[in-house]
Amino acid sequence: MDRTVKPRLVVVGNGMAGMRTVEELLKLDAGMYDITVFGAEPRVNYNRILLSPVLAGDKEADEIVLHTREWYVENNIALHAGDPVVAIDRQRRIVRARSGLEVAYDRLLLATGSSPFIVPVPGAQLDGVVGFRDLDDVDRMLAAARRGGSAVVIGGGLLGLEAANGLLRRGMAVTVVHLTDSLMNQQLDPQAALLLKAALERRGLRILLGAQTEAILGASRVEAVRFVDGTEAEADLVVMAAGVRPNVALAREAGLHVERAIVVDDTLQSYDPRVYAVGECVQHRKATFGLVAPIWDQARVCAAHLAGLGHRRYVQQATATKLKVTGIDLYSAGDIVGVEGSEDLVLRDRRAGVYKRLVLAGSRVTGAVLYGDVADGPWYFDLIQRGTDVSSFRDRLLFGPALCEAA
Ligand SMILES: Cc1cc2nc3c(=O)[nH]c(=O)nc-3n(C[C@H](O)[C@H](O)[C@H](O)COP(=O)(O)OP(=O)(O)OC[C@H]3O[C@@H](n4cnc5c(N)ncnc54)[C@H](O)[C@@H]3O)c2cc1C
Repeated sequence: MDRTVKPRLVVVGNGMAGMRTVEELLKLDAGMYDITVFGAEPRVNYNRILLSPVLAGDKEADEIVLHTREWYVENNIALHAGDPVVAIDRQRRIVRARSGLEVAYDRLLLATGSSPFIVPVPGAQLDGVVGFRDLDDVDRMLAAARRGGSAVVIGGGLLGLEAANGLLRRGMAVTVVHLTDSLMNQQLDPQAALLLKAALERRGLRILLGAQTEAILGASRVEAVRFVDGTEAEADLVVMAAGVRPNVALAREAGLHVERAIVVDDTLQSYDPRVYAVGECVQHRKATFGLVAPIWDQARVCAAHLAGLGHRRYVQQATATKLKVTGIDLYSAGDIVGVEGSEDLVLRDRRAGVYKRLVLAGSRVTGAVLYGDVADGPWYFDLIQRGTDVSSFRDRLLFGPALCEAA
């Protein structure tokens, strides 16, 4: 390739997926592209996962920065932070930002992430209703917490519980409202969810299960939340943590193939061979993504293809999750529902507050739910990912690697 005229790579989205892909690309070939990054947020890239510890007071915002301004300069990356891309002209191969700035590309990387799903109930637009996605959301929650009062968190999944824990730690009275009758129902089975609920209630959270929000009440700002059964909960702050929606409007308007998210193939290429996409804005073989582990894999594959080393294919893997609430040990990995013919191995020690359930399909572990004692989580996750035949130590499996490896 003629190194005097570099091809231009434009990245839309200065978040975890986009910048991880750029990092991987720089490792493969630092001088290959002229890189321009547009970010809707008026700041550098930070570790979004650590918004929860920032909210809870365990970290400061400047401790979660992943790439400093100097890093962009050192790597010759033109960063336009606080200037979202508003249009893509695929014929002319140009993106246009809100400021009017137009930048031409040879390759375009879409990494626009997701936005919180705002449950469409009356009052959802009132002042005091926030999502939990970026540092501005955390600032809004912290400002509310400084005024004191009560918060209602809509959604008892991972994000909702981390938001609720943070607000509780900041001194608010917090109610978590969850539609189904079991917390974190995507990662936990009802037994583990019951233990979790009891532990959170002991800390002072109020938890309403099977509760459906009907309206958010207030004259100019939030005052209360009303449920379908007619009951109400006071609220000075409402946090919407009831799922996310991939940010796909830009791609859709540019005529790319979009279903629930931007459809990509195994090389993270969209319908247009010049346009790649990674992260929560993509759909790969019907799946969308909400954790960073698969996104890191996507970044590696996408970077290899952007670097012209087209030998990698993205393959979906099992994922594992933890709840980032200090003092609560919970680990969930793989498929915890199981398929027809799956078997469960269960260990339950109520007094010690320990619960372990492994899901087996034939002689392989396919899922694990651990509560109270999670030390062996990564080992079970490894068995799941490798598809290890566990038949020779199945009877000791629940007691962890030391006993099994001895077998
Ligand atoms: C509070 C919280 C806790 C989490 N905890 C965990 C965890 O424990 N473990 C885990 O694996 N995952 C966790 N996640 C999920 C993880 O953070 C995401 O999966 C990851 O950030 C997705 O990366 P992304 O780049 O696709 O999206 P993002 O990181 O959201 O980045 C997308 C960026 O694109 C920008 N953008 C959007 N549209 C445009 C546009 N038109 N022009 C320019 N920029 C645009 C957005 O403003 C955003 O900055 C957590 C998420 C949150 C919010």
